[in-house]
Amino acid sequence: MSIEIKDLVHIYMAKSPFEKVALNKVNLGIKDGEFVALIGHTGSGKSTLIQHLNGLLKPTSGNITVDGTDITAKGVKLSDIRKKVGLVFQYPEYQLFEETIEKDIEFGPRNLGLTEEEIHNRVLRAMKMVGLDYEEYKDKSPFELSGGQKRRVAIAGVIAMEPKVLILDEPTAGLDPKGRDEILEQIEKLHIEYNMTIILVSHSMEDVAKIAGRVVVMNGGEVILDGTPAKVFREIETLENVGLAVPQVTYLTRALREKGFDISEDIFTISQAKEALLTLINKSK
Ligand code: ADP
Repeated sequence: MSIEIKDLVHIYMAKSPFEKVALNKVNLGIKDGEFVALIGHTGSGKSTLIQHLNGLLKPTSGNITVDGTDITAKGVKLSDIRKKVGLVFQYPEYQLFEETIEKDIEFGPRNLGLTEEEIHNRVLRAMKMVGLDYEEYKDKSPFELSGGQKRRVAIAGVIAMEPKVLILDEPTAGLDPKGRDEILEQIEKLHIEYNMTIILVSHSMEDVAKIAGRVVVMNGGEVILDGTPAKVFREIETLENVGLAVPQVTYLTRALREKGFDISEDIFTISQAKEALLTLINKSK
């Protein structure tokens, strides 16, 4: 098991009039190599949860084990946690600051006290992993790039720390459709080709349906649903009650089903819908 979260409670401003229970006994296990989407309405506790996973926040109670190490234990160094868990914040490109892409990506590894050779190798690997050609991009300023490319540089900076687990908070937010697809493809590649454990925080049910193997739904600081996209997206009522929805295309195919068309209940992506509709049309010919 890669991550084990036990009875995690986080209370902001405890014992003050503004006390807020942001996480209420969250229990979650994530296996090596899983691709988990974390979804939930604003304020449901997603960012509080992920910030515990890389040591930015300390639990009020409960504990978290990553790769066999209790990261909430006294004496655990933040740098050790960050070697295990990489966190890509929302709009990570705002945190790019160096004058060249290479310098930006090597910033994290440099802080780990690695040799120059190892730092260089990590930059090469990280750029390859996010699909940026080293020679072409190393000396460019990150600020010359498009939104999607900037984001890739920011992700490469986190990957260069070579974490086992990569958490991405809304990685497609604010990108145009092409940029969104590219980033999603890159993330999928990190998962499939490099076997990274991925936790993706997302508002987009379409994105989630396309790439996640497991969906965890949070509401009011608790995990309320957990399972494959097929299992979770069957719970339309529960999802709608907490301000979420199933993918748009699922509403369409379910409406067709209600009208008597022989179409699967479990269609969550455009390509699945396309295939099912073509089958229907062919059958009716
Ligand atoms: P999400 O990421 O799902 O939007 P958050 O983890 O940001 O949810 O928030 C969970 C709850 O904790 C919300 O009610 C939010 O208002 C509250 N909260 C988040 N950050 C803080 C903070 N720094 N101080 C006080 N309350 C906070």
